[in-house]
Parts: sequence; structure tokens; C-alpha cells
Amino acid sequence: MFEILVVGAGLAGATSARILAEKGYKVLVIEKHKHIAGHCHDYKDENGITVHTYGPHIFHTKNKQVWNFVNRFTEFHYYQHRVLSYAEGRLIPFPINRDTLSQVFGIEIATYEVEEFLEKEVKKSKYNNPPKNFRDVVVSQVGERLYEMFFKNYTIKQWERDPEELAPDVAKRIPIRTNRDDRYFSDKYQGIPKSGYTKMVENMLNHPNISLMLGVDYFEVKDLFKPKLTVYTGELDRFFDYMYGKLEYRSLRLELKTIDREYYQPVAVVNYPNDYDWTRITEYKHFLDEKSEKTTVCFEYPLSEGEPYYIVMTQENMEKREKYMRKVGKLESTGEYIFIGRLAEYKYYNMDQVIDVTLKKLTS
Ligand code: UDP
Repeated sequence: MFEILVVGAGLAGATSARILAEKGYKVLVIEKHKHIAGHCHDYKDENGITVHTYGPHIFHTKNKQVWNFVNRFTEFHYYQHRVLSYAEGRLIPFPINRDTLSQVFGIEIATYEVEEFLEKEVKKSKYNNPPKNFRDVVVSQVGERLYEMFFKNYTIKQWERDPEELAPDVAKRIPIRTNRDDRYFSDKYQGIPKSGYTKMVENMLNHPNISLMLGVDYFEVKDLFKPKLTVYTGELDRFFDYMYGKLEYRSLRLELKTIDREYYQPVAVVNYPNDYDWTRITEYKHFLDEKSEKTTVCFEYPLSEGEPYYIVMTQENMEKREKYMRKVGKLESTGEYIFIGRLAEYKYYNMDQVIDVTLKKLTS
């Protein structure tokens, strides 16, 4: 029978299952959805374009160990993510770099002058020092004018709250550059799985010690199993039956459109901070440089209810998280449970961070 039960067949679950299977344990993976790969699930549509079912996923990491791990299960297509932001009627390079400043302010500026320029912008602005929230972090780096142009309204749209209520960490995801590097991520290793994320996760789960059951909700079957170890990757609050109250998650409505022309926009992702109700549009064919006469684009509309995509980093949620995590600590110390992943740890992890933490927790 099975010694280990893994709840969830997303990146956290599949990585856990693989590591434990390779150690010789018999692992059963159960997954609530009817598909594997969690939120990095993808598929090829009728035009031969790989669509990311739950919105754009770009693999990027500085961590050689993580990169080596994923490369065992897929080859990567070389791809450096570039984003444009639609502001004041133009497409402007984002995150903020030297070229962004040239375009916004209509100036010729050298790399060595950028720091001083931004300092002047910051000096004109008001914020808490040291920064206490999302707004402070951004304004303390670029000043109010650029904050309002690129960050303020995007953040209100995405999180449906005042950026001053959000933790500084959310802003720290976005770099500010003084040079002309206009890539979204500067990590050494970047790419998109050549045959998709679903295939990569399928290869991870393809091991004689791993069995998989889809469409099974852990909370409906948990009393049927008595595993030595449960690796839980689902929602943290649900596991504890919401004893400290509900944690907030943000969701998205993703509207896919097939358009009868070769390209819709010059890059894979265009952000819309100030105009329209969507936050960004992704044109999927750019990721794998897929050729088609048609193109598939995805409009993202933030939602407060639905499939949990994002944790919400407000003080209230993070305090609740602390309480739940103390319960997790106790359970983990018995050696019978491990909690891993964005949902189970209530952490704004990127894909590589999920794999990194799984490798650390399970190979020690
Ligand atoms: N953000 C912003 N303007 C942008 C892009 C991002 O203000 O053009 C802020 C926004 O609050 C967003 C956060 O930075 O939620 C993190 O952005 P990221 O692109 O990392 O979001 P994800 O890819 O996780 O959806």
C-alpha cells in the first residue's frame, strides 16, 4: 500500500512525490481537479498555441539546483520575458529602466545619471521612511509621478485595496533598474518548457512508486487513509477547518480570445495599469515562438472569489497566517505532516521558490 499521501498534483505536490518516490517510498498523489500541474497547467489549442490555463507562467531562477531539477523533466525553450506597460496612450518598457525614463520624461539620459534623476523624483514625494507598505517601497525608489503612472492603479485593480494596506514584499517583486535591461526578470536561468508545464509535471509524476488519483477531494477521503506522512499542498485555512477565520485569496477571470491575425501585441505581456478593467493581456504564442496565422490572447480580470490564485499580503491576513503556521509547526514536528506551497504556506511563492523549498524540506 502507500506510505505517503501527497495532497495536490501541482508543482509542490509533484516535486514532493518525485523526491519521495526516488527515496523508495510508495506515494499516492490525490488531486481535486481533473488535471495535473495545478496552476501551471497548460494545453495546446486548436491553432497549435500553448495556452496557460491559469494565466502566464514564466520559469525563472537564480538557483542552479532548482534549474538542474526541472531540466531532468523537460527541455526549456530560451525565452527572456519582456513586458510593456500601456500608459498615457503608449506602450512603455516595464519594469522601470533607463529607457522608461527617456520615454516618460522625453529626455536623453545616460546610465550614470539615472540614480540622481530618480533621487530628485523621490525628494519631491511624501512617504514613510523606512517604508511600511507597498506604496512607500515604490515611492521611495522612483517618486510619486512614476508610482502613479505604473503602480498605483494596477495595484488597486489587482488587489482591490489601497496600496498602503499591502505589505512591502509585494513591491519588492518588481525591480527598478538604472541601466537599459528591460527584462522582467534578471535571473540567470529563464525559459518555458518546450512541451509545456503539464508535460513537465507528467514526467515528474511518471515513476513506478507514484500513483495518481484525479478528481479526489482530500477532505472527503482523508479518513480512509492512514499514511505515515501526508504532504499537504492545499489551502492552509481549509486544512484547519477555518478555526482562526478565513484567509483571503484573490482570483482571476481569464478571458481567452482567438484573433484572426498573426500578432496582437509586440511582446507576450502588456500591462494596463490605468485603462480598462483588465490588468494585463498575454499573447501566448510569444512564449514558445509558435507560428500560426491566428493568435490566442488572454485578458486578466481580477476577482475576489473563485479559484485561489494569490494570497493577499495585508496585516490582517498575515497575522492569521502566523496563527495557522504555529499549528503547522506542531503538526510538522510529529513527522507525520509537511505543508508546502503557495496555498499551504500562504506565501507569494514563484514556481522556482516552490521547488526550492520542497527540495530543502524533503532532502534534509
Ligand atoms: N505591479 C504594478 N504594476 C505593474 C506590474 C505589477 O503595480 O505593471 C504590482 C502589482 O501590485 C502586482 C505586483 O506588483 O500585483 C506584483 O506583480 P507581478 O508581475 O509579480 O504579479 P504576478 O505575476 O504574480 O501576477
